[in-house]
Amino acid sequence: MMTIPSIDNVALEQFVRKNIRELKPYRSARHDFESGILLDANENPLGSVVPFDSAALNRYPDPFQKTLRSRLAELTGVQTENVFVGVGSDEAIDLLIRIFCEPGQDSIIIAAPTYGMYRVAADIQGIEVRTCLLTEEFQLDLNALRSTADARTKLVFCCSPNNPTANLLKREDILELCKTTNSIVVVDEAYIDFAEAVSLAPLVKEVPNLVVLRTLSKAWGLAGIRLGYAIAHPTVVSYLLSVKAPYNVNTLTSTFALKALEQPEMMQNFVRTIISERERLLRELPKVRLVERVYPSQANFILVRCREAKTLYRELARRGIIVRDRSSEPMLENCLRITVGTREQNNLLLTTLSELAA
Ligand code: PMP
Repeated sequence: MMTIPSIDNVALEQFVRKNIRELKPYRSARHDFESGILLDANENPLGSVVPFDSAALNRYPDPFQKTLRSRLAELTGVQTENVFVGVGSDEAIDLLIRIFCEPGQDSIIIAAPTYGMYRVAADIQGIEVRTCLLTEEFQLDLNALRSTADARTKLVFCCSPNNPTANLLKREDILELCKTTNSIVVVDEAYIDFAEAVSLAPLVKEVPNLVVLRTLSKAWGLAGIRLGYAIAHPTVVSYLLSVKAPYNVNTLTSTFALKALEQPEMMQNFVRTIISERERLLRELPKVRLVERVYPSQANFILVRCREAKTLYRELARRGIIVRDRSSEPMLENCLRITVGTREQNNLLLTTLSELAA
């Protein structure tokens, strides 16, 4: 049995910005009544210009997204009150910063190199970003993280599998961080479906300062509908619900998300295919002369160190193959991040790389 960290429910409240604790959230009549003769929200009673078979688009969506949240809760082994749904996990990142961090006073820590939006969301709010480099094995440096944090560090962002390094962070390190830091630890699991690992999500029931981010944008193939979710202590979820825009997740998105969640086997098929292509690329890429190092991957992309990343990036783009240049990031000199494509796309990538190497 895990020891409960020092942050309990009461302490969680104290982490929240004063103005957010005192916020009177927007309420519409729809927060109290879902059905009846709906003359409360100035909607169009006649229908919508473009009708949609599955749902009435002339009506505002459920502000609390109860059906979708309860389905996601079932799938992740938590309760509905542990789940927040947003416009991509990017919305949850932004809202967490807005709930916990006082502009000009508080800070976040990012375990870098990592996903860029944590910094952008903090910069937008005027929140200091402290960078704590991963170890050479791209794992959390617990001592460095603890010494980088101070009393005004509200959030620590870590990403597992990490974008762009593609490796999983050690589960015991993340839990140790939760236990020993006086901050909320946000673990971004956008790529967890591609990894040989169990999600940390169910642990939010025992670890109040853990927030896990997930998304339908990757394995589920639904980046276009913009649906991400956060799994957290009910206190954190209730603040997320009170600061979000009232109807953040639209009816088309939630209908498609619910349809997708009925077909997890299809997602699993995608994952199997992508993993098998990833493993093939992991075998083939090291044979290309321009490639100096191929890092292991537990995600749907591969980090590759090559001879001259910027030139290679441009040459690939000239031939119609767009990858991500990560060479300006700390620890990632000459590194490109390559998303695993279809078999044909990967073949083309490999032949193009060989031609460029010739
Ligand atoms: N987290 C990570 C680590 C990502 O790489 C991305 C997207 N590239 C996101 C979150 C954003 O996901 P979403 O589409 O759910 O906003």
